[in-house]
Amino acid sequence: MSETIRETMRAAVISDQKTLSICDLPKPTPGKGQLLLKVSACGICGSDLHAVDSGFAPAGVVLGHEYAGEVVAFGEGIDEQRWQIGDRVNGLGALYCGECEQCLALQYEQCPEFKLVGLQLDAKGAYSEYMTVNANVVFKIPDEVSNIDAAAVEPLAVGYSAYCVGKVKPGESVLIIGAGPIGTAIALWARYFGVRHVGISDLNKQRLQRAVDVGADVQINAAEEKDPVAAFIAQTGTAPSVIFECTGVSGMLSRLISASPAGAHLVLAGTAMQKESITVSAAAMKKLCMTFALGYTAEDFSMVMDLLAEKRISTRHIVTGTVSLDEVPDIFETLKKPNAHGKVIITP
Ligand SMILES: [Zn+2]
Ligand SMILES: [Zn+2]
Repeated sequence: MSETIRETMRAAVISDQKTLSICDLPKPTPGKGQLLLKVSACGICGSDLHAVDSGFAPAGVVLGHEYAGEVVAFGEGIDEQRWQIGDRVNGLGALYCGECEQCLALQYEQCPEFKLVGLQLDAKGAYSEYMTVNANVVFKIPDEVSNIDAAAVEPLAVGYSAYCVGKVKPGESVLIIGAGPIGTAIALWARYFGVRHVGISDLNKQRLQRAVDVGADVQINAAEEKDPVAAFIAQTGTAPSVIFECTGVSGMLSRLISASPAGAHLVLAGTAMQKESITVSAAAMKKLCMTFALGYTAEDFSMVMDLLAEKRISTRHIVTGTVSLDEVPDIFETLKKPNAHGKVIITP
């Protein structure tokens, strides 16, 4: 059961110049336990931009871990009662076997077969017409969820997981630095869970407005306010208990350490890949707590999809545009610079 009309496919591939170019690649063949997907939607992630810039994802990689697609072929060992050709699916941004000792202990990152989708040469992602994925990391998309929303489940799950890392208590207020897709998603969850004040800081007014549209009640224009914590306190009369860093911008961490109120919890959700320099004593004097947030669990992912299907949350202010595969190299350069976009979704 496989689609064999064309043996090549088009994909946006990282070049030696750290840009993307559209190339013809061999259409992948699903291996044991894998599905071949015809990609229907894929989000462009901030970590894709960082990964190319920092060299974490080398030339030749096909990016794309925020995918949704249609099953068009099976590899060996697929349960054909469970999966059918034509199923709409999305899935996790990491591959693992699901059977080894480490996987059974939920330490997937330690699995010998662990791979990051769309960040490694041997796990091509969805900036492409087709991709293969392990059947144990994908989910069927409910009828109520569109392909574009299905591709946005991943960043919403990242935001949810980061929000949970903050362990925000009832009645507390939070401050989010950066109104990109993850910062905006954290604002959405903070409002969903009934946080007192949800503050958000960004250089771009359109991004700030979208964060307000999902539930932030304190907007801080970073172009005018150099100290977002002081601006938050000036507007609300109260200090934020948890501060989410969602920019990944160099130097932001040390700025936040000096701006933070004593006892605050800093959650580092912007996956920066550069070296940072901080003064430990400055953080220690204030007894700050610092936690690193990354990724999400399969449970987070399917919960987000259920809430979308039940229309209890929406991607309306998260997703701000769609592009074709041909437009990907240009939009990728646009997104590297300061911009007004939220989540941009590729619909190949
Ligand atoms: Zn992502
Ligand atoms: Zn494993």
